Amino acid sequence: MLSGSEIRRKFLDFFVQKGHKEVHSSSLVPANDPTLLFTNAGMNQFKDVFLGLEKRDYTRATTSQKCVRAGGKHNDLENVGFTNRHHTFFEMLGNFSFGDYFKKDAIAYAWELITSPQWFDIPKDMLYVTIFKGEAGIERDAEAYGLWVAQGVPKDRIYEMGLKDNFWQMGDTGPCGPSSEIHYDMGPSASEQGHPDCAFTCDCGRYVEIWNLVFMQFDRDASGKLNPLPRPSIDTGMGLERLAAVLQGKISNYDTDLFTPLIKRASELTGTGHVGTAASAVRAEQSSAGFPSHKSGASLRVIADHSRAATFLISDGVLPSNEGRGYVLRKIIRRAITHGRLLGQTKPFLHEMVFAIRDMMQDAYPELKETSERVSKTVHAEENRFAHTLGLGLQKLADDLAPLVAEKHLAANPGTTLDELRKLFGSEVSWEGWGSMAPRSKPVYPGEKAFRLYDTFGMPLDFMQDAARDQGVEFDQEGFDRAMAEQRARARASWKAAKPAPTPVKSWPLSTKAKAPKNSSPGTKARSSWTTRRSTLNPADRSATADGFIRTITTPPSLT
Ligand SMILES: [Zn+2]
Repeated sequence: MLSGSEIRRKFLDFFVQKGHKEVHSSSLVPANDPTLLFTNAGMNQFKDVFLGLEKRDYTRATTSQKCVRAGGKHNDLENVGFTNRHHTFFEMLGNFSFGDYFKKDAIAYAWELITSPQWFDIPKDMLYVTIFKGEAGIERDAEAYGLWVAQGVPKDRIYEMGLKDNFWQMGDTGPCGPSSEIHYDMGPSASEQGHPDCAFTCDCGRYVEIWNLVFMQFDRDASGKLNPLPRPSIDTGMGLERLAAVLQGKISNYDTDLFTPLIKRASELTGTGHVGTAASAVRAEQSSAGFPSHKSGASLRVIADHSRAATFLISDGVLPSNEGRGYVLRKIIRRAITHGRLLGQTKPFLHEMVFAIRDMMQDAYPELKETSERVSKTVHAEENRFAHTLGLGLQKLADDLAPLVAEKHLAANPGTTLDELRKLFGSEVSWEGWGSMAPRSKPVYPGEKAFRLYDTFGMPLDFMQDAARDQGVEFDQEGFDRAMAEQRARARASWKAAKPAPTPVKSWPLSTKAKAPKNSSPGTKARSSWTTRRSTLNPADRSATADGFIRTITTPPSLT
């Protein structure tokens, strides 16, 4: 079985022996493209070559490109770790023709590489291809259809799709053209909806797109008219992680050897039992303070994924900050740290992951040899900074819960005196506001208060839910969700008002610097009255942490 590194190497070797120049991955920070937050496809570094603005001394290239998709329209960070194929960092394998070969060779190369016994040897009866069916006055890609048939692909395995799936364009004007995709059938066990016998094009997870071939055939002018390009070009992209899943017979990318060593290292560093088999999952459960094993597994996958993104982003010069790229990086690092905490690791650990990634990937990305020490230090500093912020949040949580726990105690022990309660739960417990109401045996922690800690200090939702549950206090999930929804609506409104025409690189609603409201939390006074007081969120508050960092760690929905 080919390792992930061998698959990467083999892809590049195939195209090198077909006359392609092997070009090193460009930086994750796009060099000349202000519209792009991070490099997210192999073609980014060749954009000007495709546009005819730049000449190179080669007309065929192949790359394994570092890519990050996070925070933008392409990827919801919350999903990463909880699905088989979401990543923040991934590697895109590609071959490119700059006015050299076109559809005929591109299709022949692709089919040879994936099906030839000398190369990837994927059984043909597990593959499907798609072509552009023609739509909106643009002609059907009959040429691609004929070329797939000529490769021996059965006609009933060639599917025709519309503009949305099989037509690509660089922008509103400029190069564009139809595309063809190759899909792999992972079998019924890969269906996330339990389909025993569904057919291609079901999107339940069973059928996985592995390779996208883009045929840059037209130049769209300002009037929208498509003019044939004099020298049509080729741009392809194949995700290494999902190709590895296919070739290693795994349903999840995270079960390939591109991730398993990192997941193992993450489990060592967080003191979690290795999650993989049923037996070890049980150990993981026991060692992670009662978190069910599938959640432990998700947390380890989050750490594995996010540490790759953090390592490569910092290596390419991005630093954690409150704006733009640095903001996304900070969000990624802090989400990984949070998941380490969910596994019970409160000490810095993430900076050690950097060396595991270096050891695995330095052959393909030699820059890691030079940068790993610096990268690790940067991650370590961010870990310390976040721990400080979280520490403040933990104290606030204890302050919030103490009066509720006292109330519960009083309900169970009606004769308890105020002095006794103060001894047990803190000197600030008082009768104030108590009136004639009976103490509740199951007091409720208001969701608005919990949200403030979540929003201001990055307190993970799970922490607060568990802390409340452990102390016999009910958690007001509805109130929390409501406060979250209000916060999002405010952020959207203020963003729209501030920036009427955002470009992608600027479209980070939370990236503007906000001053932390001075001592705006009524929660610090809450312990003086445990009964009827309900905190209200001041809509004018711009929530920010003590260090000016706007709350960004969003606990994945499936952890709630
Ligand atoms: Zn299905």
